[in-house]
Amino acid sequence: MDISSSFHDPALCRALLERLSGEIEALGRPVRFMEVCGTHTVSLFQSGLRSLLPQGLEHLSGPGCPVCVTHDAEVAAFIRAAEKPGVIVATFGDLLRVPGPDGRSLKNAMAEGARVEVVYSPLDAVRIASEHPSDTVVFPSVGFETTAPVIAGALMAARRAGLSNFCIVPCNKLVPPAMRALLDGEDGRKRIDAFLLPGHVAVVLGLEPFRFLAREYGRPAVVGGFEPADILSALCLMVGMLREGKPAVGNTYIRAVHEEGSPQARHVMETVFSVADARWRGLGLIPDSGLALRGEWRDFDAMEKLGLELEETKPIPGCRCGDILRGVLTPEKCPLFGRVCTPQNPTGPCMVSTEGSCAAWYRYRGM
Ligand code: SF4
Repeated sequence: MDISSSFHDPALCRALLERLSGEIEALGRPVRFMEVCGTHTVSLFQSGLRSLLPQGLEHLSGPGCPVCVTHDAEVAAFIRAAEKPGVIVATFGDLLRVPGPDGRSLKNAMAEGARVEVVYSPLDAVRIASEHPSDTVVFPSVGFETTAPVIAGALMAARRAGLSNFCIVPCNKLVPPAMRALLDGEDGRKRIDAFLLPGHVAVVLGLEPFRFLAREYGRPAVVGGFEPADILSALCLMVGMLREGKPAVGNTYIRAVHEEGSPQARHVMETVFSVADARWRGLGLIPDSGLALRGEWRDFDAMEKLGLELEETKPIPGCRCGDILRGVLTPEKCPLFGRVCTPQNPTGPCMVSTEGSCAAWYRYRGM
């Protein structure tokens, strides 16, 4: 039997849904859980699970989409880099259409003559640098603990190849501090009862960095995989912990996530990056929630190399992405949703990225 198909098995999913309903009923009160992973956002919609969740169990999407949490000021820096002569910006495709504070995106800059290449991996950007020795190749380094080790590996490859024309705009973010900021924020503890933890990030971090959620905030938090049965079994465990009054950090994604995570991936990441404060869309400046290049890797910092600064920016007029990333609002409550803002003509990043909540709501509405 194909192991992946067993996680879609209708009989198994039906049984898990019944168990989940039973747990909610036994708990006797509604539960709001938040996921902080763009892949969970999409899986919940794509599989139809979101509409099958038992009454009393409400799903909130949090700041789990890498492109969506990238701050306006960071997007502005990518565009300023692209506008410099002799610069090629090599970026993941998702970032291309993300509007900056003045509504312009890298795609607009490209239409006006900037050199922007879409890449599928940071190593592609390193290759472009080796093919264009007289240009400076800039990679906008966005994403969480999952992409940071890969980007660190690309910087090591660039150093080994002696490339001095490759650099990054360091904007990687760390998930656990953002979860703390969510709970400490206005109404955070009222709004969020429990967390579905991001499977990919937990592959790298393991479980310990999430334990404060149960220890300090009394919130159950369960690592889940991305197939329907994975998500349902994580939700069963999470609601069961609430029913028993024993919040803890659980793991139902044991085929990929281990207690200690991946020390190798963390070693690569920590060789190149150190922890720094970071700006998040919707959450503002969060202490120790981002990654900066270590001193000995600063020659790869595009901000220094190109004389760029993070500008003071104003939010995109009318866009409620910040509220959506905090779980304060669901996309259809944004006045622009589906009228002015669509995937074809996005106003904000949550409608641009395939992992964005607004794009998922738009694509799967009615399901
Ligand atoms: Fe922003 Fe569009 Fe989402 Fe509204 S619907 S929050 S404008 S991305």
